[in-house]
Amino acid sequence: MADKKEILAPSPIEKIKDESAYLRGTITESLNDPLTGGMRAVDQVLIKFHGTYQQQDRDLDDERKKQKLEPLYSFLIRVRVPAGVTTAAQWLAMDDLSEQYGDKTLKLTTRQAFQFHGVLKRNLKRTIKEINDSLLDTIAACGDVNRNVMCSANPFESPVHAEVAEDARKISAHLTPSTNAYHEIWLDGKLIEGGEKEEEPLYGKLYMPRKFKTAIAIPPRNDTDVLSNDLGFIAIVENGKLTGYNVTIGGGMAYTFGNNETYPRVADVVGYFPKEQIEAVSEAILIFQRDHGNRSERKNARLKYTVDRLGLEFFYAEIKRTNGIVLAPNKAYSFETMGDKYGWLKSADGLWHYTVFVEGGKLIDRNGYLAKMAIREIATIHKGTFILTGNQNVVIAQVEEGEKSKVEAILKKYKIIDTAKISLLRQNSIACAALPYCGLAFAEAERYLPTLVSKIDQLLEANDLLQTPISIRMTGCPNGCGRPFLAEIGLVGRAPGVYNLYLGASFVGDRLNKLYKEMVNEEQILEALAPLLEDYAKNRTTEERFGDFVIRKGYIKATLAGKEFHN
Ligand code: SF4
Repeated sequence: MADKKEILAPSPIEKIKDESAYLRGTITESLNDPLTGGMRAVDQVLIKFHGTYQQQDRDLDDERKKQKLEPLYSFLIRVRVPAGVTTAAQWLAMDDLSEQYGDKTLKLTTRQAFQFHGVLKRNLKRTIKEINDSLLDTIAACGDVNRNVMCSANPFESPVHAEVAEDARKISAHLTPSTNAYHEIWLDGKLIEGGEKEEEPLYGKLYMPRKFKTAIAIPPRNDTDVLSNDLGFIAIVENGKLTGYNVTIGGGMAYTFGNNETYPRVADVVGYFPKEQIEAVSEAILIFQRDHGNRSERKNARLKYTVDRLGLEFFYAEIKRTNGIVLAPNKAYSFETMGDKYGWLKSADGLWHYTVFVEGGKLIDRNGYLAKMAIREIATIHKGTFILTGNQNVVIAQVEEGEKSKVEAILKKYKIIDTAKISLLRQNSIACAALPYCGLAFAEAERYLPTLVSKIDQLLEANDLLQTPISIRMTGCPNGCGRPFLAEIGLVGRAPGVYNLYLGASFVGDRLNKLYKEMVNEEQILEALAPLLEDYAKNRTTEERFGDFVIRKGYIKATLAGKEFHN
C-alpha cells in the first residue's frame, strides 16, 4: 500500500525547528533581554522542547493593561520523572524550588511529572539548573518529542512492577533527544562549535510532527490511561513473570471545537512482543510517526490521525521494513480500573506504601489543609522513595515496618484526608491546571472542580451513591491534558463558568465519552446529572458502571472509535 500522505507546505513550526540549530534558536538572547519578562516568539516555541512554557497571569491582565504594562509573563516548568519515581532528596529539592522561584505550589501532573508555575524569566535558568543538580531534568518534558514515559504506579508492589518501571526508564533514555543545546543553554555546558552540524540520530532536525506520549500499564490497573497515549504498552504477566507487552498505538485526547476533522481517540492494541524488544519496538513506532505524521496541519499531526489515514496494514509493513519488527497476535488482558489504591499497601518484600490523595494534583498549603508541608516533613525522615501517579496523587513508597508509625504520625498531625471519608467520585477526579496561567483555558478546572464535586456529592448522597466509584474529569479546553474524554463524567471549558458535558466513557479507560449537553453552567450541569444519577441508583444492574448504564438506558450513544466521537 502506498503512503497516502499528501504533499502540502510544512507548518510554520516545522520551519522554526529546521532553523533552530537543534533547538538552540535565540533562547540565550531572549533570556538575557532585560526589556521584557517574555521570550521572542520563535523561542517561545523552542523552550517547550526544553521543558518550559511561557505563560501569563490572566487574573492580572486587565489591571496591567490599565497600567500600560506588558502582561505578567512567567514560566511553567515541567520536570520529567520517568515512571514517576523520585527520591526523598529530590522531593525536598522540588519543594524548595517551588517555594523559592515558583508560586509556592507544586503541581503533580497527569503524566507523573512535577510542574512549577509562576517562575519569572530572571529565575528560569537557575531553576532549571537546580532541577538538574537534583538529578532530574526538564528536557523533552514538552515539545514535539517523546514526553515523560509513564508507568503504573508503585513499582515496589511486586517484582513485575519494578521490572516494568525499569523498562519505562529504558524507553525514556532511548527516546530522549541528544542535542547538546539543553546543556549549553541551561547548564552552561560547552558550546559545540557550529551546533547546527550536530546530529540528532533518532529525530533529525525536525523532531516529531507533534508531541508523542508513551505509557505502560500493568493490568488489571490502567492507572496510566495507557490507551490515551500515542504509544502504549500493556504488560503481559504469565505465571507471575513479565513475558512481554501488547503494544498500543494511536491514542490521544485533544480535539478542536468546531473542527470535526479532529477527535479524541482510544488506541488500537496492535500486537504482542517479548519484553527484550521494548526499546526496538518503541523506536520503530516513533520512526513510523516521525516519517509519516502530518507536518502541514498540526491539528492533524498526532499518531492517531496517521493511523486512521494510513491504516494498520501499512503500519505493520513499515515497522517491518524500517526496523525489522514483526508483532505477534495480542495476548489476553483485562483492566478493572483507572484509579489508584489509596492508603497503605504492603508489598511482597515486606515494605509499606501509602498513597496520598492530592485533589487536582495541586500541593498547596491553604485553608488549614497543609498537604504540601506534610509531605515535605515526611520527606525529611523518609528513607524510601515517592512515586507520582498518573492520577495526580503521590505514593510514599518503600516505608519500612519500623518507620510506618512515624509516617502515620505526620499524616495525622497534618490531618491528611483519610480517603475513606471522601466520596469515590472525588477520589476518581482529575483536573488540569487551566486558569490563571494556561493561555488556552476557556474556563476554570483545577480551582473549580472541587466545588462542583461537592455539589454532585449531594446528589450522590441523596441516591446513596457516595461509595460508588464514578470517574469525573474537568479541563479548561479540549486539549485534554486531564484526559476528560475517558471520564464517565467529562467536563470541558467553553467560556468562564460554562462547560460541555460528556457522558458514556467506560470506567477502565477503553471507551470514549460523547457530548451530552453543550454550553452548560453549574446549575444546568447539576440539573442534567440529577435524573441520571437517580435512575442509576434505582435501576443499575449489579456492578454496572455509570458510563455503561447511560449507554444501556439510551441517554447517550456509545463511542466505539475516535471518528464516531462527533456522531
Ligand atoms: Fe490548558 Fe487546555 Fe491543557 Fe487545561 S487542557 S492545561 S486548559 S491546554
